[in-house]
Amino acid sequence: MSNNTYNAIGFNESDEMFKSSVESMLDCFAIFTALRDEYGKIIDFILEYANDAACAYKRVVREEMVGKRLLDVLPYQTECSLFDEYCKVIEAGEPMIKQCLSYEGCSGYERLSKAVDVRAVKMKDGFVMTWRDITERIRVEKALQESEEKFRGAFENASIGMAITGFDGRWLKVNRSLCEMMGYSENELLQLTFQEMTYPDDLELNLDYFQQAIKGEIGYYHMEKRFIHKQGHVIWTVLSASLVRDSKSEPLYFTTQIQDITRIKQANEALEFDKLKTDFFANLSHELRTPASIILSTLQLVEYYSNHNILQSDIINKYTDVMKQNCYRLVKLINNLIDATKIDAGFYELSLQNCNIVSVVENITLSVAEYINSKGIQLLFDTNVEEKVMACDPDKMERIILNLLSNAVKFTKRDGKIKVSIHEENENITIKVKDNGIGIKKENFKIIFERFRQVDKSLARNSEGSGIGLSLVKSLVEMHGGTIQVKSKYGLGSEFIIKLPCKTLDINNNNSAYEQNSNNIEDYIERINIELSDIYFENPK
Ligand code: ADP
Repeated sequence: MSNNTYNAIGFNESDEMFKSSVESMLDCFAIFTALRDEYGKIIDFILEYANDAACAYKRVVREEMVGKRLLDVLPYQTECSLFDEYCKVIEAGEPMIKQCLSYEGCSGYERLSKAVDVRAVKMKDGFVMTWRDITERIRVEKALQESEEKFRGAFENASIGMAITGFDGRWLKVNRSLCEMMGYSENELLQLTFQEMTYPDDLELNLDYFQQAIKGEIGYYHMEKRFIHKQGHVIWTVLSASLVRDSKSEPLYFTTQIQDITRIKQANEALEFDKLKTDFFANLSHELRTPASIILSTLQLVEYYSNHNILQSDIINKYTDVMKQNCYRLVKLINNLIDATKIDAGFYELSLQNCNIVSVVENITLSVAEYINSKGIQLLFDTNVEEKVMACDPDKMERIILNLLSNAVKFTKRDGKIKVSIHEENENITIKVKDNGIGIKKENFKIIFERFRQVDKSLARNSEGSGIGLSLVKSLVEMHGGTIQVKSKYGLGSEFIIKLPCKTLDINNNNSAYEQNSNNIEDYIERINIELSDIYFENPK
């Protein structure tokens, strides 16, 4: 700063502190005095002083700046109408703080050419001005704002569900499509976690992926999963989630995309069910035709022997057994079909009575023990309770146990072992039928209880079956208020576990009806023959 300048603006020459601080400022600093016309009106400002930063900003040496007019030094300021503002600073004495933005390019395609933060404070008949070039900062801010707007637009208007999810599973931000898909308003959804809305069977796998992503073992995951709509129905979705981390790699949140595939699933299921039904009817025709053909050919043999007078009693017995056996198979199949249809139509009813469930299960097990042993399979029975009277339909219980036993025999080789057990546990009766046969793969646990399903027809072919048995067993157990589940290690064996609630009927009719039924031993044997007819089967030569 020259001595002249100091004198002109009245600074004390010895004010070293002011000098050094102004010179070392990063911001541009200048002092202007007003230039007035003969009437006292300000017509421009004369630059009295500019610091190094201001000279660098203008890319000139100080001597080229000092003494020049404002409109020559900083012409773009006129565009921002700062000239009038400076006049006001001097006339009114009020400081001015302003952001001055100027653009280039034509309308609609303007581009920011300069952005300056300007401050001015009155000093004598002039002002002190500081300014800072903020063009780059404003450009970055604008770009950021534009990209945020684009993201927000894409997020809000996306046709698939989109969300930002916290580590506790809470929805932090959700878009319109997701709200519509789930049936909740945005506010309702933001109060919920994805865990609360996930179909229970799909939660474990989802949480597993979630944890793996948080631990950094995977960056993102895709899965098919089910959500529960606000109205209670299931929505099938394809979900993709990826974890967003901060600059220090700390996890921030998940971004999630969810696509509703319920319609596709339903269409596929309908197709699959159609195919299943076609296969079932093809199988059913075979199941009906085989015993009928066997009966017919056996009858033809009997007729032949009779016509040639060589019909002996042992031949008659042998062929009667074969025909009877195949009649049982037909009856079982038809019974199962009728029952399945009745259950579907809601006409199937239990005939509940209070009876000793332990003896029902034990008797039916013992009654087939000899036959099972004759197949080279050991049959064991175990219980921790001698008597438990509860409401059940003994005929249906018999069918349940015989069905499970018939399957156990079908899928267990010679020298195998089958165990039936009945235990009382916390007001529940648990019945287990366990074998050490071929076992069932985990992925088939659910489908074996579905109508018309046989896991592996080639394995089932050495004995017969229609794929109705377990679905019927499941329906009968559920009609008793119970549940059935399967545990199995493929190749090592299977265990079917039935849990029944121990309830009794209020009426005083205990188990007399059941005893009566059991007393009719021929009926009883007939029922067993029918239920086990699949595995009694032998091909006549
Ligand atoms: P099916 O009358 O054809 O046996 P089910 O409904 O009783 O039909 O059984 C369905 C399928 O479940 C069977 O075809 C078989 O694949 C499987 N399964 C049932 N019980 C057992 C078992 N104890 N061991 C192995 N597989 C079994």
